[in-house]
Amino acid sequence: MTQQGLRGIGMTSDRTRERLIQRLLEEGIRDHSVLETMRSTPRHIFVDEALASRAYEDTALPIGQGQTISQPYIVARMTELLLQGGPLDTVLEIGTGSGYQTAVLARLVKRVYSVERIEALQKQARERFRALGLRNIRLHYADGGLGLPEYAPFDAILVTAAPEGIPRALVDQLKPGGRMVLPIGAHHEQVLVRVTRTASGYDKELLEQVVFVPLLGGVQ
Ligand code: SAH
Repeated sequence: MTQQGLRGIGMTSDRTRERLIQRLLEEGIRDHSVLETMRSTPRHIFVDEALASRAYEDTALPIGQGQTISQPYIVARMTELLLQGGPLDTVLEIGTGSGYQTAVLARLVKRVYSVERIEALQKQARERFRALGLRNIRLHYADGGLGLPEYAPFDAILVTAAPEGIPRALVDQLKPGGRMVLPIGAHHEQVLVRVTRTASGYDKELLEQVVFVPLLGGVQ
């Protein structure tokens, strides 16, 4: 990535980014650490150059392979929901995709393990983290529905593709009191859920309607 690519031109102006942060505030995002992190994380380097001029719109965008970079509001909301219980050391993310959500998280927690099932996307994300100097991200090429049992338990888990129900394997990899934020349900009928691990099982809070790509099995 060139310096020009990182710095960008016009569309990455402070004003364009500030408009996005104002919009997130209007939409109800309150966590200042999340807003600050999103203000200083260049979303345009996580999309194809042809789409860079739209990178600070509050919208999901295609990233190839039939996948999308999540809408900034959703990234902010999921991150805020994850952080509400206090500081986090190790977080597992399922669905690296472009790596944008990973990069935001990595600046707010100690270490992020992120799993992706499409190798081409993982490779691009890795280059972006290198360009940004993010060194606390560990990428894994695997079926994230199974979690990463060898690194469990985690303080928190974030899932950025929708399974039909709450994957038991992931709940089992949360520390007691740990939380997981994920969309569940079939296409266009998904709801954002926060799961908190308890001594005997888990509690769940249903939060809001969302649209995500499905969590698929196996690797590609
Ligand atoms: N947070 C990402 C979202 C990308 S879309 C971003 O903002 O860019 C969801 C991603 O989940 C896709 O890259 C898709 O390939 C991945 N995915 C779907 N099922 C998966 C699985 N079982 N394991 C790992 N990744 C998965």
